[in-house]
Amino acid sequence: MDRRQALTFLGAAVACPTCAAIANASEDKGGQSWGYEGEYGPERWGAVSPANITCSIGRQQSPIDLRNPIPAELSDIQVHFRPSKLEVLNNGHTIEVVVPKGSFMVLDGMRYELLQFHFHHPSEHLVEGSSFPMEAHFVHKSAKGDLAVLGAFIAAGEEHPMLKRVWDRMPMEGGKTVRDATIVRPSDLLPDDHEHFRYAGSLTTPPCSEIVSWIVFNEPIEASSAQIQKFAGLFPLNARPVQPMNRRFILGSF
Ligand SMILES: [Zn+2]
Repeated sequence: MDRRQALTFLGAAVACPTCAAIANASEDKGGQSWGYEGEYGPERWGAVSPANITCSIGRQQSPIDLRNPIPAELSDIQVHFRPSKLEVLNNGHTIEVVVPKGSFMVLDGMRYELLQFHFHHPSEHLVEGSSFPMEAHFVHKSAKGDLAVLGAFIAAGEEHPMLKRVWDRMPMEGGKTVRDATIVRPSDLLPDDHEHFRYAGSLTTPPCSEIVSWIVFNEPIEASSAQIQKFAGLFPLNARPVQPMNRRFILGSF
């Protein structure tokens, strides 16, 4: 599977009329299913389609338990996100906000365009064995096709005004998209403190391609318990379990 396909998959702008009917399992373009529990669960992703074999045999899989980072002099992440009108879809696996061209970040001198951001419940990454209620992923792609994902943990606390605008309009049904004049500012979902972990990993959904530079912020943002529960009502579990580190290391900017 090439990177364009992988991206399409990750973006999962997959027309999926059966998503609502089969709840946590849905179909990719090859007609194969994956979900987060049972026979379509993460343990079986590599088996349900040959295209997903990396999910089983990959050695740089995500997410991971973030612990014992090696302190490193890492360049700051330069984020240049623009406000835009809301386009939000329920792809049967998550709620995803599609970002128009023009938002990007610069990482180690390389420009990565922001394509979309989406959410997991509970968090996919752990920090020293502990999860957060949710995690937001900002998916970026460079001109060369490399992916970089910014991860922001979401802790229970104050209501988040931008999440409210998204949550008020998000489709309850898989395969549906809502467009609205409401303005969203993706940067509002990033923590003020840019201390972060970095490591080399993969997509956390099939086909689990090992093409992702992960940057996960140490400081969580906050959402209210009601906001977290509203998402959990749609997606009670959409987090892949943590994967073996193998011969990798984690860098920390702190
Ligand atoms: Zn994700």
